[in-house]
Amino acid sequence: MARIVTFSFKDNVAAEAVIEAVDILQDTGHPMTIQEFAQVAERLGSIMGASATPQVLMARPTAWCTCKYKVTRATGKVTPRFGWLVCKTCNKPAEVVVRNWMGNLVNSVMGNNLLQALRDKLAADRATEDDEDPQEILDKFDQGADGVTTKPAGEG
Ligand SMILES: [Zn+2]
Repeated sequence: MARIVTFSFKDNVAAEAVIEAVDILQDTGHPMTIQEFAQVAERLGSIMGASATPQVLMARPTAWCTCKYKVTRATGKVTPRFGWLVCKTCNKPAEVVVRNWMGNLVNSVMGNNLLQALRDKLAADRATEDDEDPQEILDKFDQGADGVTTKPAGEG
């Protein structure tokens, strides 16, 4: 079992900067020094603290029913805490529900998930840069998210 957390941001730039920072911190293909990692993590925390409003905390299933019968409204039950439709025998949702969890979540509110488009744009931006200096990425954070600059005025 896992969790899904949704934050809202009034500032689109801040929202995108958070995604970029998390991707940078988790990208094992581009190693950073501990200091660079700490700088990106600090800015991530600053942007989150200044701009993010927690909206949703949901449990996300990671295992599914492998029993003989399909989990349906008729054959299953809804769990009181998580609100999942699960098998009455093993207490797990249907495989199709688990595999399509995020897509169904996004589709349920008739919205498009913009995450991949943002990542494609960021990758294209990185590909056109001559130098992938992590300091340039840090500088971009300082220029990008309005009102959440972490450097003192006059620096950088
Ligand atoms: Zn089952």
